[in-house]
Amino acid sequence: MANPPKLVILDRDGVINRDSDSYVKSLDEWLPYPSAIAAIARLTRAGWTVAVATNQSGIARGFYDEATLAAMHEELGRRVAAAGGEIAHIAYCPHGPEDDCDCRKPLPGLLEQIRDALELESLLGSWMVGDSLRDLQAGEPLGCRPVLVRTGKGERTLANGKGLDDVLVFDDLAAFVDWLLDTR
Ligand SMILES: [Mg+2]
Ligand SMILES: [Zn+2]
Repeated sequence: MANPPKLVILDRDGVINRDSDSYVKSLDEWLPYPSAIAAIARLTRAGWTVAVATNQSGIARGFYDEATLAAMHEELGRRVAAAGGEIAHIAYCPHGPEDDCDCRKPLPGLLEQIRDALELESLLGSWMVGDSLRDLQAGEPLGCRPVLVRTGKGERTLANGKGLDDVLVFDDLAAFVDWLLDTR
């Protein structure tokens, strides 16, 4: 494929920070994996662009508000910057499953927002890293290459087994980045 963008799109919960079945509702509950922060910085230093696409239906459900989410994302940016990296864009869906929006993964809306924010013509050949099947499904119509990590809900997704035929599987984001920077 011709010049795929050097772009890695990450799901947030379960990939960058610990996931919780009862939602990550406050800055105190936002607990990043140190190895994931370091991995994002390694991508940046190797010339890759990193973006985040995250479903945050806890906003629609009233568990936290946009200001709290912004505080989490500022903290994420601070930690990544302290490690020498950068996140180019964070796209989030604040809606719930009943809201009929076009951005809640598995729909591709968040990834289209990232494509447009980064002024890319296409996401073809970029990487989509998630711990849930819907993360990978969101990238499929746009030609993203799917990567499943075993952190967060990853083991559950793997045990379920559906829809993973062409998916690369890694222990965590750091292991994927090791592989990516080694082979490309
Ligand atoms: Mg997740
Ligand atoms: Zn949405």
